[in-house]
Amino acid sequence: MRTIGLIGGMSWESTAVYYRQINEAVRIRLGGLASAKVAMQSLDFSEVVALQKSDRWDDAAALLSDAAKRLEAAGADCVLICTNTMHLVAAEVAQSVTIPLIDIRRETGRVLAANGKKRPLLLATRYSMEHGFYADYMRDEFGIDVMVPNEIDRAKIHSVIFDELCCGIVKPESRQALEKIILRGKEAGADCVILGCTEICLSITDNNVALPVFDSTTIHSDAAVSMALEEGVANKQNAV
Ligand code: GLU
Repeated sequence: MRTIGLIGGMSWESTAVYYRQINEAVRIRLGGLASAKVAMQSLDFSEVVALQKSDRWDDAAALLSDAAKRLEAAGADCVLICTNTMHLVAAEVAQSVTIPLIDIRRETGRVLAANGKKRPLLLATRYSMEHGFYADYMRDEFGIDVMVPNEIDRAKIHSVIFDELCCGIVKPESRQALEKIILRGKEAGADCVILGCTEICLSITDNNVALPVFDSTTIHSDAAVSMALEEGVANKQNAV
């Protein structure tokens, strides 16, 4: 089994989900007492958020690249950035190491394409919904036309992520607000919804919403397990 390298802590609420899902998948595949080999660099999220808020993406790239190098030195066979948002600096992080970076956008795009989805609604942070790095990637790599919610809904999602889910607060009324946003996306022509923030699965925990759900956390974790068990998903060509 290969060792999965996680850059986590963004937030740790979702990194805990990765850790559980990765280990559960290994147990299902291998049985018995088998568990995943994992190396982790868990960052202080308050430092990352400070860089995001002040648009210091070069410094954020340096911080995550340093974590990736430490994972490589610790024997990791791949790197996952356990947040969609910080894929804004994925190219720099990928270049800082010789092991492959398993890109959450690539894995999500692959699953969408395999399911014939072309017009997903993206629920994510403002950074992911408003900077080009997510939608442009999906269009260029997969011909997928990402839709984003309107301004008011984007503000609501961003606030639910940072003020609630990243703090471990799960409110039923916020789930209802997300459900309404998904319904509006369907009415506007979306054919599915991407939970494009790794904490949203803490709120939308089932498929009882207006559109088929694609959860980036689950997709990313699964890709890591396939790599670890040498199921042929990840190799250096997959890096950005
Ligand atoms: N985990 C979130 C994501 O997937 C947001 C936290 C962050 O800003 O990195 O985008």
